Amino acid sequence: MSPTSYQLLHPAMWVPLPSFPTHDFGKQRTANVHTLLARANFSPRFRKGTRTFEATIPPVVTDNQPLRTPPSVNGHRAGFVNIVGSPNVGKSTLMNRLVGERLSIINAKAQTTRHRIMGIVNQDDCQIVYSDTPGVLDPAYKLQEGMMKFVKTALQDADVLLVVTDVNERGMAHPETLEKIAAMDVPTFVLVNKIDLASDQTAVEAKLDEWATHLPRASVVPISALHNFNVDTLLDRIVSQLPESPPFFPKDELTDKPMRFFVSEIVREKILTHYKQEIPYSCEVVVEAYEDNPEITRIRAEIHVARESQKHIVVGAQGRMIKRVGMDARKDIEAFLGKKVFLDLYVRVDKNWRDDERKLKRFGYMD
Ligand code: GDP
Ligand code: MG
Repeated sequence: MSPTSYQLLHPAMWVPLPSFPTHDFGKQRTANVHTLLARANFSPRFRKGTRTFEATIPPVVTDNQPLRTPPSVNGHRAGFVNIVGSPNVGKSTLMNRLVGERLSIINAKAQTTRHRIMGIVNQDDCQIVYSDTPGVLDPAYKLQEGMMKFVKTALQDADVLLVVTDVNERGMAHPETLEKIAAMDVPTFVLVNKIDLASDQTAVEAKLDEWATHLPRASVVPISALHNFNVDTLLDRIVSQLPESPPFFPKDELTDKPMRFFVSEIVREKILTHYKQEIPYSCEVVVEAYEDNPEITRIRAEIHVARESQKHIVVGAQGRMIKRVGMDARKDIEAFLGKKVFLDLYVRVDKNWRDDERKLKRFGYMD
């Protein structure tokens, strides 16, 4: 392999990059993919000694096996580009990068994503429908069975598959899923993420070779979703694999999910940040009332917990913990909606909801 830009990716050389832009539906609806990418793609900058390199580094894509390219067409291309992989490897970070909006919540804790969330990128001549999915695992309770069903459907309807792993992962958290992918005849990219964490280049190359063995028909690409390395190169390659098709969604759509969903996800993100151990995994957030007035949006959301003892923890002494969650969530929802928000949070015990099919249906995890 020729010298590559990820040689420059030793963590000591990273210059901190700006954080994601805040949610901005209004602007995005009129933006085309180029402006989206311009907003999402911060140019790579690395510092070596006293010198700073800016965006001069050619991106790298390793081609183990060229993907089959559909016949060149002048018509419109559209398709489902589904992101799958183990928990915590950076699937949601990648999806947000590719779409240019923070649709999926991200957290260092595993199993942050519970649903299949679509993020749509529209261009004059193509529509890419990305799907972020929960991390693959062996389900331990019914909620996780529902989460794995989203993955299963995403494998079935993919036009292009993005299998995300990271430099430190061996195989996949759910080997059966890896076997299934190996047997599929769908253009597949294996994205070896977090290469900024690799000890050295040899470690990255060894990982790329490992995945070329697991999935010989796939194209293996080293990336860093967090630092936006090699992600924009990927876009052209994904589009080239899409079938000729009319769009699946209206061209101004950004996602398949309603506003209420994103509001509940923002609250859940704050729960993931503020509580430890099993608490985040035992909470579900449901927006019960959403009243949009010209001056202010009034939202009432309920946090469902599985046990009485969890309710006490979530509320905290004198309600201090829930207040913090509410304040943080309100700020983000205000940025998301671009207006003032009144957020009312309640906590209610829903005994063992994670194993209750009726509840899971209501929460959208089961049909
Ligand atoms: P998911 O569970 O696969 O959706 O993973 P997330 O997108 O939620 O990310 C899990 C954790 O990995 C978060 O703390 C991210 O900030 C972090 N992460 C994602 N991509 C990268 C990357 O390229 N480099 C590093 N160092 N961390 C990353
Ligand atoms: Mg995720």
